[in-house]
Amino acid sequence: MELFFRFDFAAARYLPRLPDSHRCSRLHGHTFQVEFAIRGQPGADSGWLVDFDEVEASIAQLKGDLDHHCLNELAGLENPTTEALAAWLWRRLVTLYPGLHRVTVQEHPSRGVSCFGD
Ligand SMILES: [Zn+2]
Repeated sequence: MELFFRFDFAAARYLPRLPDSHRCSRLHGHTFQVEFAIRGQPGADSGWLVDFDEVEASIAQLKGDLDHHCLNELAGLENPTTEALAAWLWRRLVTLYPGLHRVTVQEHPSRGVSCFGD
């Protein structure tokens, strides 16, 4: 089975390795949409794969670290491309959920990145 969870957060960023002429080199904001998927089999006793309440608590913690922050100020996100953000979220989530299969980050309704490992 595969479970998925979605959340969003708003954050600022700039991409410091781009030339000044590139619009993404300037400070700007996105409302990022995140979806992650966990694969596995439901426990024989519990009947579920993960406790949704636990996942909601993990999401609340992630949102606390990300929402209305400047991503560049977070360790590991000094160059916070959407690719780097997906990998950063992967590293945070896989320690909690070894069955993590995918982390998708959308920076805009028409584009995003899926990460399947680090
Ligand atoms: Zn951007």
